[in-house]
Amino acid sequence: MIVRFWGVRGSFPSGNEETVRVGGNTTCVEVRCGDEIIIFDSGTGIINLGKSLMKELPVKANLFFTHVHWDHIQGFPFCAPFYVPGNEFNIYGGTSLPKTIEEVLDEQMSSPCFPIRKEVFGAKFSYHDLRAGDVVEGKNFKITPSNLYHPDGSFGYRIDCGDQSLVFATDNEHSEGKLCKNLLKLCEDADLLIYDSQYTDAEYYGLEGQFSRKGWGHSTMKEGVKIAEAGNVKKFVLFHHDPAHDDAFIGRIEAECKKIFPNSIAAFEGLEINLDDSALPKSLFA
Ligand SMILES: [Zn+2]
Ligand SMILES: [Zn+2]
Repeated sequence: MIVRFWGVRGSFPSGNEETVRVGGNTTCVEVRCGDEIIIFDSGTGIINLGKSLMKELPVKANLFFTHVHWDHIQGFPFCAPFYVPGNEFNIYGGTSLPKTIEEVLDEQMSSPCFPIRKEVFGAKFSYHDLRAGDVVEGKNFKITPSNLYHPDGSFGYRIDCGDQSLVFATDNEHSEGKLCKNLLKLCEDADLLIYDSQYTDAEYYGLEGQFSRKGWGHSTMKEGVKIAEAGNVKKFVLFHHDPAHDDAFIGRIEAECKKIFPNSIAAFEGLEINLDDSALPKSLFA
């Protein structure tokens, strides 16, 4: 599998001089399993992914939503290949039930919040709502959603492709003192865990004069490492960076992470991880 990061921020896009190296776009990750394309979420990162996909028309891809908070859907109306006849997209959601993923995206692109309806898309779409434990099988991959802990719900996904496996677990709040059973099960012996590392301990617990972010639905790098260690995960990616964290700050969190889990890297726009390679690529901060 090859994993490419197009949007690595949580909450809202962050574009300024201090965040430009890590990148300011919200959540969007592309995974290639042989010739099959899997996309996680359509944060603003999907706009640049869309531009890149325009070079390989016609596009057939599977877009899996972890959930439908703004930072994971903001880019949806702006993905260029959606407008091109001949392209095909399978859209998967399920955390918004009883509203279907199609209904939610339809509401996103409707008056008075958006000028055009999704009926203007030229590509063919099919919509599917999943439940935790369902399995979606492609030619080369098997993908399994599981419930994470997040306001309004969120899916973590595991992809198995040949003998490789990765877990995408963004937007998850850990429970203090115990590991999330669902996530641990997803992570068993996975090659790669991409994890919600939005807050430092000081931010999450409200230390050092901070206010606490408990109950906001996010986690810390240290809690992610606990899961990675317990699940015998080989590589760890810090993801869903807080928009207030500038490049230098994320560099410091990554350095701290490497001390306790050396095989780790902070996600940045343009990061590409090939699971055929034994080592992670070079960090932005090395
Ligand atoms: Zn988010
Ligand atoms: Zn969220």
